[in-house]
Amino acid sequence: MAQFKNLKDLLTKFSDEQTCRDFLVQRRWNGTPICPYCGCNKSYKIENGKRFKCANKDCYKKYSVTIGTVAQDTNIPLSTWFGAVYLIASHKKGISSVQLGKDLGIAQKTAWFMLHRIREALREKKGLLLTTEVQADETYIGGEEINKHLSKRIKTRDDKIAVVGAIETGGRVVTQVTPWVSKKNVSEFIEKIVDKKAKLVTDGSSAYMKIGKRYEHIVINHSAGQYTLNGFTTNGIENYWSILKRGIYGIYHQVSEGHLQRYCDEFAYRFNSRKIPDNERFEIILGQLTGELTYKQLTAKNNIRANGQDIETKETGE
Ligand SMILES: [Zn+2]
Repeated sequence: MAQFKNLKDLLTKFSDEQTCRDFLVQRRWNGTPICPYCGCNKSYKIENGKRFKCANKDCYKKYSVTIGTVAQDTNIPLSTWFGAVYLIASHKKGISSVQLGKDLGIAQKTAWFMLHRIREALREKKGLLLTTEVQADETYIGGEEINKHLSKRIKTRDDKIAVVGAIETGGRVVTQVTPWVSKKNVSEFIEKIVDKKAKLVTDGSSAYMKIGKRYEHIVINHSAGQYTLNGFTTNGIENYWSILKRGIYGIYHQVSEGHLQRYCDEFAYRFNSRKIPDNERFEIILGQLTGELTYKQLTAKNNIRANGQDIETKETGE
């Protein structure tokens, strides 16, 4: 595995596009291109190795290594994508598009677009199954807290976006933006991601009581001043909410509902890969840049303030 001490080191190694392409061919296909149209593993190099032509005579289609990846159909150089992935992988608390744009010498709007595409690639697509002992809880993001340095207006919980989450004690986390913390929404979330044999630990909120019947359910009665029961607590998920909020509020002035899930996924990815060194994380991310998200999808009408200019304006102190 290639190892990079810093961004300069990385950009020096990947200074030309063909080196980047060759590297992706290795990471993505173990060196042997697979035709995305027919699955054939025989191909010809064309255009000086820039692209491939399928060797299956019924297909003969042309493709490049970026097909189906986040870098597809962009005129952003691969070296810039690599730099962005490196910076995202090595910033423990995330990076704003303003900062990313400065670091890479590109427009903020381009950086914003790249960040969202990379977040999409980081999204856990297979779905995790949390096991053993799982703490579940909900939180509210945005509204008053996120806007406090922008506006003195008093906001209510109505302005906030609800997020429900579950964490293995000492392990992995999954979070999901939800329109409403109802029994139904909470039950569907937990049922999907928590192993039936796991112990479920929650507070006394009524939202968890229905799904709790399907598990060994440990209820910590916070309203009665109880914070631990036979060694069980919900401290894990509560600590995670602090990490998530610090991360989001530290970088973004405003997060629209349409984008919050991707921010949540980015932070969950960071958290769940916390034991992996930055260098290795860079290569892992490059290997999974297969998410597809077009600019059209990104700026779809459900994404409020999605013109890429007023979502993130504050720079990080990192
Ligand atoms: Zn083919």
